[in-house]
Amino acid sequence: MDAIDVKYIHLISARLEKFKKVKRDLYNFRCPICGDSKKNKNKTRGYLYSAKRDVNFKCHNCGSGMTFNSFLKQLDLGVHKQYCIEKFKIGKTGRSHITNEPKFIFEKPKFSKKLSLPLCSEIEVASNYLERRKIDPTKFHFAEDFASFVKSFPEASHHNLRKEQRIIIPLYYEKVLIGFQGRSLDSKSIKYITVMLKEEAPKIYGLDNITKNEAVYITEGPFDSTFISNSVAMCGADVDISNLGISNPVWIYDNEPRNREILSRISRTIDSGHSIVIWPTQIKEKDINDMILAGYDVQNLIKLNTYSGLEAKLKFNNWKKYE
Ligand SMILES: [Zn+2]
Repeated sequence: MDAIDVKYIHLISARLEKFKKVKRDLYNFRCPICGDSKKNKNKTRGYLYSAKRDVNFKCHNCGSGMTFNSFLKQLDLGVHKQYCIEKFKIGKTGRSHITNEPKFIFEKPKFSKKLSLPLCSEIEVASNYLERRKIDPTKFHFAEDFASFVKSFPEASHHNLRKEQRIIIPLYYEKVLIGFQGRSLDSKSIKYITVMLKEEAPKIYGLDNITKNEAVYITEGPFDSTFISNSVAMCGADVDISNLGISNPVWIYDNEPRNREILSRISRTIDSGHSIVIWPTQIKEKDINDMILAGYDVQNLIKLNTYSGLEAKLKFNNWKKYE
């Protein structure tokens, strides 16, 4: 950081909420790009710091990263112009200083471990939505603009995506982000959009968090799986689990005894010899989340209603409402 950088950081510091100097060449404040946490006004996740010959900005909330030059330009065109003139005078007109477009410096497209998106717990609309359904908002991320989030992954194929808010359900396999699902908050939009970053990867949520040599429960949706211990969720129909080392899968389908598609999948699962949960007929709720909201001890229900083979067939025939 040179004297001009420091001067202009102080010049705009009045506009940066909770601005403070952490130490030499490191400043911290509420991010003006995303506005930082709406819930906690004390959260300060924007930083300005020295990086080689540049000064860079980074936000740990929204993931924005750019040079100080670009940051200044977004904040105040007039001040930015002055800054450029002063930099020009001392000869720092190299591409990294003046002419460069915002350059993203952190984990962006290629990051495979962490999503640079806020958690749902940090975003009011998302945490309200999840908490209403008793779902832990710290387990999922949030994209303000789903279309541009998907576009930040060159390996993702995407078409007709809308600029809309979506809850992001990350799919990890062996600690690598292999894809994600975007869950709409708007009932008029497509409910789930699955984007895979590796074509051959299993479309399954929660694979890194299971003990494979114990019973592994497989639910129909990621949200449902968060209520069940040692579980994963299908993120597409007819997911193949044969190569994943799961020795005792227990399939949990939605409680929709009139849904032909589900009936045929249950039938095939029973025929394959795997264990399956057949919901007691007095339960009317259609999925695990609804059962949780209705006050059921779902973990226990599952334990008491897991069947296989002939017994599964008998229970299934009794449960289904369609011939
Ligand atoms: Zn931010």
